[in-house]
Amino acid sequence: MPTAQALPARTTYLGMLEIRRALPIRERRMIGPWCFLDRYGPLSFSDAKPMDVAPHPHIGLQTVTWLLEGEVLHRDSLGSESLIRPGELNVMTSGRGISHSEETPRGNSGRLSGVQLWVALPDADRNQPASFEHHDDLPRMESPAGNFIVFSGAAAGLRSSASAYSQMTGAEITIHAGQRMLFPLDITFEYGVMLVSGEAQLGEERLEIDTLYYLAPGDDALTISTRAGGKLLLLGGVPFDEPIFMWWNFVARTAAEIAEAQREWNAREDSERFGKVSGYNGSRINAPPFPLRVPPPPAS
Ligand code: MN
Repeated sequence: MPTAQALPARTTYLGMLEIRRALPIRERRMIGPWCFLDRYGPLSFSDAKPMDVAPHPHIGLQTVTWLLEGEVLHRDSLGSESLIRPGELNVMTSGRGISHSEETPRGNSGRLSGVQLWVALPDADRNQPASFEHHDDLPRMESPAGNFIVFSGAAAGLRSSASAYSQMTGAEITIHAGQRMLFPLDITFEYGVMLVSGEAQLGEERLEIDTLYYLAPGDDALTISTRAGGKLLLLGGVPFDEPIFMWWNFVARTAAEIAEAQREWNAREDSERFGKVSGYNGSRINAPPFPLRVPPPPAS
């Protein structure tokens, strides 16, 4: 098995919540269609609300929420309200435009650990109407060495029921203490592997926690082994062959598209494109000024 390239995450803050941003970073912008990976927690709290992201818009992507511990309450401009727990999946397909909020609910476990992921939509699918899905019946496989859940796309013969628009993989792999596991890969996919708890080795390489390890296409299996047991995330896909333009919460193709989305979001609180999130207690997040100069739209 070839050596994986270690891509250390960058620490930043989302409000009060410390996150490790593993994608995009300078060394790597995407893995397959995956274009964003924020890792947060594990953390304990009592009266605080560690996750509190006020209403904000998205275009051109899917948000994929995966928890290892705790709860997050999602609300969006379609009227969806969804509480997510570990082992469940929230997928929001923004299409041309949607807005949502994410927060720690009242009546929580006092724990939080998870990842916020984004998937870039291919050009043919990126202007579709927005939709939201919650899945709590994801395909799962158990073996003496451990188990895995496929939450996005397909892996090892299992396919997630979540909507997917690219050939891709999103899976959580648990390996039990003292075990070794051979996990089949698609040789046309590139992959990222992240150890999120415990300890494990990828081939001969000892994995650092919360570091993304990149594997170029061409491998047909991962060899994972552990002494104490561990949990890993596996993301992958066919390398995305469309150049994307990503800025703030928007994924587009041109600066003009970004500028238009920025203008439409900031112009009014209930635009046809982005709608309005009901039930969130607080103000929404305005887009920062878009830094690039683009010609104004035609006056028609
Ligand atoms: Mn969001």
